[in-house]
Amino acid sequence: MTENKKSEKGSAEAVTAPSHFIRKIIAEDNRTGKFGNKVHTRFPPEPNGFLHIGHAKSICLNFGIAQEFGGVCNLRFDDTNPAKEEQQYIDAIREDVRWLGFDWQDREFFSSDYFEKLYDWAVQLIKDGKAYVDDQSADEIRENRGTLGEPGKNSPHRNRSVAENLGLFARMKQGEFADGARVLRAKIDMAAGNLNLRDPVLYRILKAAHPRTGDTWCIYPMYDWAHGQSDAIEGITHSLCTLEFEDHRPLYDWCLDALGVYHPQQSEFARLNLTYTILSKRKLLQLVNEKRVSGWNDPRMPTISGYRRRGYTAQSIREFCERIGVAKANSTVDLSLLEFCIREELNRTAPRVMAVLKPLKVVLTNYPENQVEELKAENNPEDPDAGHRKLPFSRELYIEQDDFREDAPKKFFRLAPGKEVRLKHAYIIKCEEMVKNDQGEVVALHCTYDDQSKSGQANAGRKIKGTLHWVSAAHAVTAEVRLYDHLFSEMEPDKIEIPASLNPDSLTVLTDCKLEPGLKNAKASERFQFLRLGYFNVDAKDSRPGAPVFNRTTTLRDTWAKIQKKG
Ligand code: ATP
Ligand code: MG
Repeated sequence: MTENKKSEKGSAEAVTAPSHFIRKIIAEDNRTGKFGNKVHTRFPPEPNGFLHIGHAKSICLNFGIAQEFGGVCNLRFDDTNPAKEEQQYIDAIREDVRWLGFDWQDREFFSSDYFEKLYDWAVQLIKDGKAYVDDQSADEIRENRGTLGEPGKNSPHRNRSVAENLGLFARMKQGEFADGARVLRAKIDMAAGNLNLRDPVLYRILKAAHPRTGDTWCIYPMYDWAHGQSDAIEGITHSLCTLEFEDHRPLYDWCLDALGVYHPQQSEFARLNLTYTILSKRKLLQLVNEKRVSGWNDPRMPTISGYRRRGYTAQSIREFCERIGVAKANSTVDLSLLEFCIREELNRTAPRVMAVLKPLKVVLTNYPENQVEELKAENNPEDPDAGHRKLPFSRELYIEQDDFREDAPKKFFRLAPGKEVRLKHAYIIKCEEMVKNDQGEVVALHCTYDDQSKSGQANAGRKIKGTLHWVSAAHAVTAEVRLYDHLFSEMEPDKIEIPASLNPDSLTVLTDCKLEPGLKNAKASERFQFLRLGYFNVDAKDSRPGAPVFNRTTTLRDTWAKIQKKG
């Protein structure tokens, strides 16, 4: 990547002026020569779900910091739990990391690549009298672990001889015992103040086929045994993980010291929490399994693939991760910051077009029948290179239903009986008459246009407060547009169970939207600003050639939404 980011922020500057504590740690290590000025990080996802925006923070940190300091970052699949891991997740993780703009080159690893080595190291621990096979059940182990205030109880099997432990561990590996019948535990201290040091479990029996190692293994290493040793094998210098692993660091250090091998430094940072958002793969999987969403890449999901499908750019997500920074204390970031980042980018880059989401027919009674004018429309006032396009204008148009009110309040500067508005890029029109159906609903408007008011003309300058978007009825493309709101209605959705926490109005599908003709052939993932309505992209999954489906990426910052609510 991150050519863009580098040139914007200046990588050299970041190195000499560390702006967060991880940068400071690395700068200090380089100063003292702790790792010989080497920076080698890793991003270690468990392939048990799709990556979410919290993972993006970790990806940007691990790959970003390596890049900044001239180092490298590995992609390591932490695949030690065959019960939950799947190939589809491995594929999705690769795609998402790459899309975010990062490259692990040939450094793709799997914890399962190290199963043999991890086993040998466990045998070494046993031989050194630092590990033992325990026959207690998981429940007994938990009960005897003690509490923060009370020491645990030694297992009755804690003092087995080395020979007996070696024999039992080998038989565990050979599949002689049932799942859960025995475990291998580190022999540390059942009275340790840190509960993670009370003889933690290193291996468990699990007779499950592994996506990569098949039936070779029926014992699997626990996270605490696999992680640090995998870091050591790969020569990681800075092992960056989230705060909940802070209490595991003494164990991370103990294992490496007990083996007497190369010792990376674990440092912890605060995980990302976002308002109105759940960042837990377990709960996101629940949403998918219970079909509360259309899949992991549903545009409402906080997954990287969901944001991509919704129209977020990789640049905007990297920008977000840069802005939230990296801290040592947990906090919650406002979702609006993420929306700000994409708006800011799309404001500069997305062409402005006109789309009417809830159409109301307008007939210009004084406009010649069968006449079509081509009006010149600016593509993006923020981008001088964006140029212009031609827009057809004719006697029958569509405007937004919400842009007309029969009983308009005084400050309603849109269309109402007897009132005037300007049509963007076109003329001033005046509402002369309403056409109603049998139920008394307005189904069309008869208006007149002022042929002396054409936009861009020298004498177009009558002052009119309201400007509306519109499309020519005969030329419009009919399309489906999907509007999204927060998936959860609660600011802290973690506090409530699914489905009670879900926002019932998170998806609105509009199937009769009228778009300017150029959008007919919009390509998958292409992004636009629909004037006054927000930023939209072409859905990459459900669009067909000539029949695009649009997602609203985000609303505009302006008052439109507010007016809509008040009205
Ligand atoms: P989840 O709780 O969603 O299942 P996890 O931590 O179990 O997440 P992993 O696949 O183990 O998921 O995560 C890979 C890396 O991403 C880890 O280093 C983890 O610390 C980091 N990570 C996960 N969630 C977040 C988050 N919300 N903010 C920052 N980093 C995160
Ligand atoms: Mg994890």
